[in-house]
Amino acid sequence: MLVILNIGELVVIPKGPVCGREMRNVRRIQNAAIVVDGGQISWFGRATDVLIPPGSDVLDAGGGCVLPGLIDCHTHGVFAGTRENEFVQRIEGKSYADIAREGGGIRVTVDAVRAATLEQLIALALPRLSRMLHNGVTSLEIKSGYGLSVDDEFKMLESVRRLREFQPIELVGTYLSAHAVPREFDGHTDEYLGRMLDDPVLSRIRDGRLAEFCDVFCETTAFNIEQSRRVLLKAKQFGLLPKIHADQITQMGASRLAAEGGAISADHLEKIDDGGIAALKAVGTIAVLLPACSFFLGVEQAPARKIIEADVPVAIATDYNPGSSMVESLPLTMTIACTQMRMTPIEVVVAATANAAAAIGRQDRIGAIDIGMQADLIVLDVPSVERWMYEPGRNCLRTVLKRGKVVVDSSG
Ligand SMILES: [Zn+2]
Repeated sequence: MLVILNIGELVVIPKGPVCGREMRNVRRIQNAAIVVDGGQISWFGRATDVLIPPGSDVLDAGGGCVLPGLIDCHTHGVFAGTRENEFVQRIEGKSYADIAREGGGIRVTVDAVRAATLEQLIALALPRLSRMLHNGVTSLEIKSGYGLSVDDEFKMLESVRRLREFQPIELVGTYLSAHAVPREFDGHTDEYLGRMLDDPVLSRIRDGRLAEFCDVFCETTAFNIEQSRRVLLKAKQFGLLPKIHADQITQMGASRLAAEGGAISADHLEKIDDGGIAALKAVGTIAVLLPACSFFLGVEQAPARKIIEADVPVAIATDYNPGSSMVESLPLTMTIACTQMRMTPIEVVVAATANAAAAIGRQDRIGAIDIGMQADLIVLDVPSVERWMYEPGRNCLRTVLKRGKVVVDSSG
């Protein structure tokens, strides 16, 4: 057993999904303690009330703030190559869509991923995952979508599966073959989808447990509503839960499709309208907002306040990818949500824990402080989440625990 003592403030995040005002009404316990047994939280409360079982290990939180490990529920964290030239082109005035039309964008990364071996993709991802862990991320969703051929998409999903062997972050795979249409299928989008959604392909993903979710980029430059619906419905037949890149650049009704198709999350939402918000609310779809992406592209943010006030559960993720969000730090992303979306620090912490857990279907096990929840915990070197969000760019992590085991210790 492990007892964590000298917790300045324990942030008692409730199980997700958490909506509306409840995102702010989070209980905090000053001078707290936690008991961990078998990798789960078995007791928490005021330090004056803790009974330390004989023979327990003790971890000193140094008076810091303790909360659940962060969950990055939307990333493209397996990739090869970089695209800093596009970063400069955008600064000089080109839009993301212009660059894509001129042959840049996703296709550049597709070429690099196709040229990489499985081992190379793993070797490129490992240091990124290590840095994410040091930033407090204990669970991470990673999408395919840079292979865009059956073999290369499998290579990406296989790399996610194999990465579990080498590091402690819990990884969740998402099949995103409908990210872009590859060159060899130019003008033949439906044929491309037919190939990637072929029964043997989806059976192999299901039977090999290579992905739990299926995602589609619903956008004028990618897949229209009808094609997106086809992707989601077909994948669902094979047990892959739908997610959608929705309403990012163009308002096409993608959030309404997310609701209609029973998507677990609708992600991006920079251009969501009132009808889309109402549709998400009606079925309880999680709104996954990606403030680092808008920050990186220099474009408008999703209307987070409006979505929260409509009682739609909001999660925050990095969207980490080499084109539109080369931002691997979830804490920095959370501060961007504070300053650019006017979410409060406690709201963004709920968004990156309880609600992010709900966006990957794990809210009953991770993302909250409660008896029986998995002891994925982070200890900050600051006394509150407000102080943490107020200091972007400095790593405030002191200790990271995964299933009750210390996996990062910077306290020395
Ligand atoms: Zn994305």
